[in-house]
Amino acid sequence: MDLGLADRTYLVTGGSSGVGLATVRALLDEGANVATCGRDADRLKSIGTHERLFTAPCDVRDAAAVREFTGAAAHAFGGVDGLVNNAGQSRMKRFDETTEDDWRDELELKFAGVLNPLHAARPHLRASTAASVVNVNAVLAKQPEPRLITTSAARAGILNLSASLARELAPDAIRVNSVCLGLVDTGQWTRRHAAAGSGLPYEEWQAELAADRGVALGRLGRAEEVAYAILALLSPRASYITGTSIDVCGGVGRGIL
Ligand code: NDP
Repeated sequence: MDLGLADRTYLVTGGSSGVGLATVRALLDEGANVATCGRDADRLKSIGTHERLFTAPCDVRDAAAVREFTGAAAHAFGGVDGLVNNAGQSRMKRFDETTEDDWRDELELKFAGVLNPLHAARPHLRASTAASVVNVNAVLAKQPEPRLITTSAARAGILNLSASLARELAPDAIRVNSVCLGLVDTGQWTRRHAAAGSGLPYEEWQAELAADRGVALGRLGRAEEVAYAILALLSPRASYITGTSIDVCGGVGRGIL
């Protein structure tokens, strides 16, 4: 099936690694123009070059920098049809380990990571004939984990915000949806494996992790598996889907939602 993404333009935040990078590659494969950002210019360069790819270093918490990035991307490709708010990371802390700064930083990252790109892209999205926003979220939003207390709370807020935005932006025909991830094999987990110092090879460590967290499919997900869900929601073919979320979690979700 042709997803209808070719020649359209998509902004993907945090495209230098993991889910963002897989999404950038999948969109390029579909013939779309892609603009992506990350904080580290060298990591961005490691994506390589492509005639339909625009990259620029930008921290999503910095509203002015996000406006500049978005304006440059829209200028390069003649507009913006979709936005994937993916940049971010999680914070492994329990309540008693969490400082005031942790709370503030986590909430700032999660909310600014959606609001800054959306404010910057909104005029361009309004002008698109197939505008779509996808917020990359986590099943933690619906199933909190005490060991990730700030991230769980922030994720719940973002899922709630996504539902509000879907209604607020519907008159402009801008769709807003989420993907809620379980455990996906990306830089986040290779860093944690290194930090854990378990001595187990990465594959075995991952299998133990999946079993410990009750992942029905018994393994971590692949970034490409998330990218397919994101592309499906970005696609003009999903023109009647807004205000919802897709769990991409291998069956870790225990609720019926
Ligand atoms: P990675 O660590 O592999 O990649 C994160 C990307 O975001 C990098 O490109 C990073 O680049 C960028 N980034 C981080 N902070 C900022 C910032 N402030 N401004 C701009 N770019 C930033 O992460 P994943 O692919 O695993 O995660 C992608 C999203 O999915 C994140 O929001 C994460 O929280 C969420 N998620 C992931 C899960 C998983 O198991 N992997 C589970 C649930 C949710 P740089 O560091 O150079 O800025």
